[in-house]
Amino acid sequence: MHSDKNLPRRDFLSAGVSAACVAAVARVGYCSGVPAKEETKKLGVALVGLGSLSTNQIAPALQKTAHCRLAAIVTGTPEKEKKWADKYAIDSGSIYNYENFDKIASDDNVDIVYIVLPNSMHHEYTIRAAKAGKHVFCEKPMANTAQECREMIAACEAASKQLALGYRCQFTSHHLNLQSAVREKMIGELKMIEAGFGFRIGDPNQWRLKKALAGGGALMDVGIYALQACRFLTGEEPISIMAQETKTDATKFAEVDESITWMMKFPSGVDAYCSTSYNFNGLNKVVAYGSNGLAKMDPAYSYSDLQLEINGKKIELKQQDHFASELDDFATCIRENRPSKVSGYEGLKDLLAIEAIYKSIENRTSVDVQTA
Ligand code: NAD
Repeated sequence: MHSDKNLPRRDFLSAGVSAACVAAVARVGYCSGVPAKEETKKLGVALVGLGSLSTNQIAPALQKTAHCRLAAIVTGTPEKEKKWADKYAIDSGSIYNYENFDKIASDDNVDIVYIVLPNSMHHEYTIRAAKAGKHVFCEKPMANTAQECREMIAACEAASKQLALGYRCQFTSHHLNLQSAVREKMIGELKMIEAGFGFRIGDPNQWRLKKALAGGGALMDVGIYALQACRFLTGEEPISIMAQETKTDATKFAEVDESITWMMKFPSGVDAYCSTSYNFNGLNKVVAYGSNGLAKMDPAYSYSDLQLEINGKKIELKQQDHFASELDDFATCIRENRPSKVSGYEGLKDLLAIEAIYKSIENRTSVDVQTA
């Protein structure tokens, strides 16, 4: 364990702190010690796309949330309808498919539409959900292009509905403590960041390897976590990017990137060296180097077992359900009518950086990142 004076202020999530307190920290970054007032009505969430993430992470998380409940499903697979309805007690009138999805507009049971579809479909379903008068929570990456992100933001603004992204790491006590350690200069002045996330992808026929559905490869899918971590830690937007791609399997990765390394320059002078791959396991880290020390997480982006170390000391923190935390935060933002810290603009900024990375690879030169 650690001595308190060596820790950032966020590090109060030691054993014995109540679950309500942990949830409060995940939501607002602090715990008052006073239990939240009992909410009268949880916000209803419609899950669009019942694939791996919805099945294994989001639906179970919705059973733990304080402010949300699973109210509806949208699926193109009829066999899933009864299975999900039975398991989660979903009303038959709140089961939709992709054709009749727009009828959700008259479903008062649904407040939030959570889009968990292949990346290229986020744009269409966000706009349809906004037009149906629902708040939208959308998985990462926000869309295939920055232009699509702008259209999604515009649609939600026109409907006066909130739009937020599934950037779950921003709600973990580990990432929040790392951010605090950097901001409070526990490692001195931040000088450099190293971040990377990758895994060896299996089935060569899956949508993640098809450009039309995925928008790109490892970078769009998991490299985005490393990019996010750098933006989250610096609180800045990258100004220029230099990137390179490596392709060792031209058949499997015919349409999308296999491995990419990139360097980002931030306005304060911080440099970030990032990497991503669909071809090997084990890359799952963020390291912040300061003038007097370093802070690191490895693993940094897994659903559980995050590990944080600051200046050589392992920081013991409770593991959280990232999905329950991000959803409760979104519900609180809706209730309090304030924008989420992971709003559509956050997704747009990532896509602008991703477009600069792809352009740098194509042009073999450093590329300036467009501003949102
Ligand atoms: P998945 O392949 O397991 O599920 C996709 C779902 O979309 C399936 O139910 C499938 O039937 C449906 N679908 C509808 N039209 C489709 C089409 N034309 N082609 C393929 N599938 C179609 O994928 P997943 O792992 O659940 O990922 C879904 C989204 O969630 C992606 O945007 C992904 O980036 C994101 N994701 C986020 C995290 C996270 O930690 N936040 C983790 C995994 C995935």
